[in-house]
Amino acid sequence: MEYKLTFREYSESLKRDKLLGLKCSNCQTITCPPKMTCQECGGTDLEVTELSGKGKIVTYTVIYVAPEGRENESPYAVVLVELEEGPWITGNLIDIDPARVGMELIGRQVKLGHKVFSGDKYSDGDAARPLFSFAD
Ligand SMILES: [Zn+2]
Repeated sequence: MEYKLTFREYSESLKRDKLLGLKCSNCQTITCPPKMTCQECGGTDLEVTELSGKGKIVTYTVIYVAPEGRENESPYAVVLVELEEGPWITGNLIDIDPARVGMELIGRQVKLGHKVFSGDKYSDGDAARPLFSFAD
């Protein structure tokens, strides 16, 4: 079985603020971040598709104890976003004071950016991750 979209390709695309997903030819569901199979039906006939990067916040959390090597970044907010095209992805939320966020975040419209995190002993070098800011 081949990877239609590797995590490295996904990350390199994110560095250009371009969000890629995989569209299933069987059920039309879009899977993002990339997996080997459709997240809905398990199908393997997938096609790379570009997503808008726009969506709304479904839920959030605030990280006060950051992973090793990123202690100076905490606290920070992480949001789960339902993209316009359907898939839900997580990313950091910027332009807010993480210590003052609350339930008013739920349903807010956001748009995608990215942040490149440097590699650490657990990862395979630098990688871009989704970063969201308010769009409304
Ligand atoms: Zn499917």
